[in-house]
Amino acid sequence: VLGMLHNLIYQQDDAFYQSWMHSANHSLGAFCSGGTVANITALWVARNNVLKPDGEFPGINKAGLFGAMRHYGYRDLAILVSERGHYSLGKAADVLGIGRDQLISVPADNQNRICINALEDTITQLNRDNIKPVAIVGVAGTTETGSIDPLNALADIAEREGIHFHVDAAWGGATLMSNNQRHKLAGIERADSVTIDAHKQLYVPMGAGMVLFKDPSVVASIEHHAEYILRKGAKDLGSHTLEGSRSGMAMLVFACMNIISRRGYELLIDQSIDKAAAFAKMISQHPDFELISEPELCLLTYRFVPARVQAALAVANEEQVDLIHNLLNDLTKFVQKRQRESGQTFVSRTRLTPEQWQRRTTTVFRVVLANPLTTQEILHEVLVEQAAIAQESEFAYPRLITLADSILKS
Ligand SMILES: *Cc1c(COP(=O)(O)O)cnc(C)c1O
Repeated sequence: VLGMLHNLIYQQDDAFYQSWMHSANHSLGAFCSGGTVANITALWVARNNVLKPDGEFPGINKAGLFGAMRHYGYRDLAILVSERGHYSLGKAADVLGIGRDQLISVPADNQNRICINALEDTITQLNRDNIKPVAIVGVAGTTETGSIDPLNALADIAEREGIHFHVDAAWGGATLMSNNQRHKLAGIERADSVTIDAHKQLYVPMGAGMVLFKDPSVVASIEHHAEYILRKGAKDLGSHTLEGSRSGMAMLVFACMNIISRRGYELLIDQSIDKAAAFAKMISQHPDFELISEPELCLLTYRFVPARVQAALAVANEEQVDLIHNLLNDLTKFVQKRQRESGQTFVSRTRLTPEQWQRRTTTVFRVVLANPLTTQEILHEVLVEQAAIAQESEFAYPRLITLADSILKS
């Protein structure tokens, strides 16, 4: 299964897989309980390779972080990712001793992709401060907006600076299954490591994450052995994993790869992306809704803004926009909660800082169009229900209408 997923990303030839798949000292990747452990594993490898053995120094895995920092003389370590990066990277920074504050959040642009200029500036500053970047993390499908970072541009920078390039494709990696869509992840094949969750868009039950490594020898930095198991020289996938005993989830991924197959996945991925585009159009054309993030994959965000309020926003001053915005945030939260409780339809919610609203914190509905049985009619009903629920709000809705009326009159 690791070979199949490695091939999906890196597309090496048969000879490559023949020589590495069963080699005792190499590993194409690791099966993990989820994307969190996959990300930790990738950054663990990256950290250990940055603080590798050097002369008398035996490497961080033996000496520990304090010894490694004394030897290398760095003031600090850092991991770089866009502000849309997943919270699991914070846990990784924490458990690897790098620290959550050293997970440096680089601003994203109005399409929720990492700003390359801001990243360049950050790296320059880190180099100046003697802070060693352990990894640049590109996100291929952010959890909140489904956006894909410019992976080739990130790979160029990582190569030039000699920094480990990790791609967190936990959510979006399945897009590679579609020949019509995989170009959206161009550059992922240049990543040193990639995280993919099969329990997201590969439709496998929870507990099936994977990390894949471009170069099967990089895992030497995390290798471990025991006398009764994982013996030196014997092929055991466990000698390069963080977790020990794990359930046999790989079997489910294998089964799905055979039963659903590449063609089936292509159909699922293409259809959900088309459906998201259609839903985005439906929202844009609806007088009482506002699309917040355009879907790149099958994920989009939007909110309910009655037409009269939209008209008022167009002429309101800054202070009034703030007021309306806060009320809209209340309203979105109210609608999302009540919709979930009433049990007819469900969307999730999150908070973004969209550029079109001068980075004001904006509560939005978040929709992932993963269910192949969801129809356009159902999506239409979701909007109808949300508009109806909004009017049940005793606080935000009436205030918004009154405020909009007074702005439009003056
Ligand atoms: C879901 C997700 C993760 C974490 O995965 P778990 O399987 O929940 O541990 C990491 N990164 C991204 C981008 C994700 O969407």
